[in-house]
Amino acid sequence: MPDRFCFSKRRRALSAGMALLLLLALSFSLVACSQPEPAAAVSILSSNFVGYDFALAITKGCDVQVSLLAGGDIHSFNPTFRDMAALQSADLFLYTGGESDAAIETLLSALPDCPTFRLVDHVPLLQEETVEGMAGGSDAGEGEYDEHVWTSPQNAVKIAAALADAIVAADPDPARQARERENAASLIASLEALDRDFAEFFAGVSDKLLIFGDRFPFRYFAAEYGLSYYAAFPGCSAAVEPGPRTLTFLLDKLKTTGAKAVFHMEGGAHIVADRLAAASGLPSVMLHACHRVTPEEIEAGATYLSLMRENLETLRQYLS
Ligand SMILES: [Zn+2]
Repeated sequence: MPDRFCFSKRRRALSAGMALLLLLALSFSLVACSQPEPAAAVSILSSNFVGYDFALAITKGCDVQVSLLAGGDIHSFNPTFRDMAALQSADLFLYTGGESDAAIETLLSALPDCPTFRLVDHVPLLQEETVEGMAGGSDAGEGEYDEHVWTSPQNAVKIAAALADAIVAADPDPARQARERENAASLIASLEALDRDFAEFFAGVSDKLLIFGDRFPFRYFAAEYGLSYYAAFPGCSAAVEPGPRTLTFLLDKLKTTGAKAVFHMEGGAHIVADRLAAASGLPSVMLHACHRVTPEEIEAGATYLSLMRENLETLRQYLS
């Protein structure tokens, strides 16, 4: 079953074409959607959940409107006409900034005055990698950077600090700027505490191995804490069927390494993880990459911090 939350090169090309069509539609949309929005002093738009979540935290209590575009999934940029009109008048637009954002870059080329913030510009980047046993090797290892930079809490700290500067620069009001600085300091302190808790936990884990029956968007997380991993596919490969060699490899690792679970990421049907779970007798367990966060999760109060803390509890249970 195709996974609409990840992005193949073919779909990237389609999306770039779609962005051009949307550009043509923009002039109409501005007329069609001209009913006034409730006017906040500053308007921030994000196509990335973590950018949205951090901007909300930094502007808490300020007259700043923060909106999430296209469901916040970095690989399925599909703005409505209303989003397009909002982008035209945004004071700051946040996006991930990897190869998957080609459609966004195309769109922004027609909006040269739109101030932007790219998450990938504020952290050291790692290349997407293909580890032993992984399927989809032909789609990976071509020098593409892994885009899921926020999965490392240390990266999250860097992104939050840089985002605070960008928001303060976009907001002309000194009183709000002071509050935004205060909020950012508190967000950064919470992210640093999260990082310390993960580091402390992993320091006590003798076998830091994750086995994913899924794609693996935790490259930066694994690099930060010195974890090794096996997975069915790289970062956000569009492949959905790993083939018998990968399945056999992962099943063998599940049976011979003392693994207590087969992991999968959020979203999608995690069929491969479930199949491996059934064959190994281990549970199929989700680690949330804060990659695709549903409106229901957001409504229920999910934040980067809450989702990552849930991951920490899950890891406490299944890694020792
Ligand atoms: Zn992805």
